[in-house]
Amino acid sequence: MNILLTGGAGYIGSHTAVVLSQAGHEVVLLDNFCNSQKSVLGRLQKILDKVLPCVEADVRDTALVAKTLQDYKIDAVIHFAGLKAVGESVEKPIEYYANNVQGTISLLEAMKSANVKTLVFSSSATVYGNPQYLPIDENHPISATNAYGRSKLHIEEMLKDIAISNSEWKIICLRYFNPVGAHESGLIGEDPNGLPNNLMPCIAHVAVGKFPYLKIYGNDYPTIDGTGVRDYIHVMDLADGHLAALAYVRNHKGWVAVNIGTGHGASVLDIISTYEFVSGQEIIFQIEGRRNGDIASCYAKVDKARNLLGWQAKYNLEKMCSSSWLWQNFSNKA
Ligand code: NAD
Ligand code: UDP
Repeated sequence: MNILLTGGAGYIGSHTAVVLSQAGHEVVLLDNFCNSQKSVLGRLQKILDKVLPCVEADVRDTALVAKTLQDYKIDAVIHFAGLKAVGESVEKPIEYYANNVQGTISLLEAMKSANVKTLVFSSSATVYGNPQYLPIDENHPISATNAYGRSKLHIEEMLKDIAISNSEWKIICLRYFNPVGAHESGLIGEDPNGLPNNLMPCIAHVAVGKFPYLKIYGNDYPTIDGTGVRDYIHVMDLADGHLAALAYVRNHKGWVAVNIGTGHGASVLDIISTYEFVSGQEIIFQIEGRRNGDIASCYAKVDKARNLLGWQAKYNLEKMCSSSWLWQNFSNKA
């Protein structure tokens, strides 16, 4: 298939590009590089031994997106492009709705005009809000506590309406849990502009001495050791999940949402000790107060992904941490 990856130069998009291309798909990237570097293109070329076409554009440029869909005879789109920092979304809701919601509307208009009706959308476990039960299945009520989460909710609901309006649409929303790690080459990984907020990149910064210590946001949660528990998933497993989702959605009309996680929770202290083990570095930490808006535990029920997509995660915490460490060392030198 010919597949357009909006936000394809970003963290998850670049890893998915590798997996799709190696599976024989023709991959085209579209990105405005607001949160990624152009150097990722050369790195993808090194991994794949081929150049992936990349269109530098904003998804809100409907005409250019439509032209790209036509020029490359695109069969399906994976829509990664969007802003994703929860804290920033609270300060800049207009930017978040403009980029995420308006960006998706623009993409859908372009897809409609180019008659491309197969879409994989990057959603998030954040649409479950504060978990009412664990593990979280896809029937768990959805809600949002910040502008980022609400933008994902709005998009999911919008996509549902579009699938109802015309039965030709084939849409799958993948609700990612906590993507971490990097490609085994160490050539691509999570490379945000600015300082990281998420746990794994913060630990990596401590391991290489960029941060003096890790702040642990709370050790008084009702969890196994008092620290927050999340369902961390290796980004290469996540990339494989997109391959499986494409194979499914191309043959299934309508709208569906599927969790993409491992089904297991790990605490902050679990991640720290695994990172220390694989890196040989001490991760100095300090206990701080709880972070605003954080929840105690969140992990997925993953039966739907297994049954519908025939996909399940393969990599364990050690692989997640060791690939992050390799990437951190590479990007530190590069
Ligand atoms: P990322 O920031 O690394 O990648 C997003 C890419 O989209 C970047 O390359 C950025 O330059 C590009 N982009 C942003 N706005 C754009 C626009 N208007 N036009 C064109 N390009 C644009 O983020 P990621 O971690 O790869 O996340 C990809 C998607 O997955 C996002 O939609 C995000 O909300 C979702 N998601 C991510 C996580 C996570 O923890 N990483 C978890 C759940 C869901
Ligand atoms: N966390 C932490 N210190 C950090 C970053 C995160 O203790 O510097 C904790 C956070 O409180 C949560 C877990 O690590 O319990 C995962 O946080 P992350 O931001 O990576 O993911 P999210 O909370 O969005 O699921």
